[in-house]
Amino acid sequence: MDEEVYSILDEARSALGHYCMTECNAYCCKKEAITLTKKEAELFKGSDQVVEKEDFQILIANPCPKLKDNKCTIYSKRPNACREFPIFKKDNEIFLANLCPGIMNKKIYLQTRKLVELGYKFKTDFILVKIDN
Ligand code: SF4
Ligand code: SF4
Repeated sequence: MDEEVYSILDEARSALGHYCMTECNAYCCKKEAITLTKKEAELFKGSDQVVEKEDFQILIANPCPKLKDNKCTIYSKRPNACREFPIFKKDNEIFLANLCPGIMNKKIYLQTRKLVELGYKFKTDFILVKIDN
């Protein structure tokens, strides 16, 4: 089951790719606060946009210093939070980023339908929660 869910999540992110580049213009890379592991934070060494926390760090992407011409210049090494955005699984829940224009414009509607068919139900407009029967 998990494998199928992760495959649908990947499919959803791929389905958004073109929209992200051509219509949304990397909105999330300009407006998000991204949680980084210490290792990921090294990618942003020297940037005053990284805020230190106890065991993790936060990048204030306003915009992200790695964004150039609406493209990520560290794409293959980008932080996990960037890889997973705007839909991700945590424990038994699937979260959708409510301010993502791609989601608001139903670009991953098909994939969210598949998740509903697998037993995930909308708890609110933007969060899917797996209901165990
Ligand atoms: S906000 Fe959503 S649609 Fe826009 S670039 Fe980010 S993931 Fe893509
Ligand atoms: S690291 Fe890349 S994907 Fe992540 S916010 Fe910066 S530009 Fe965007």
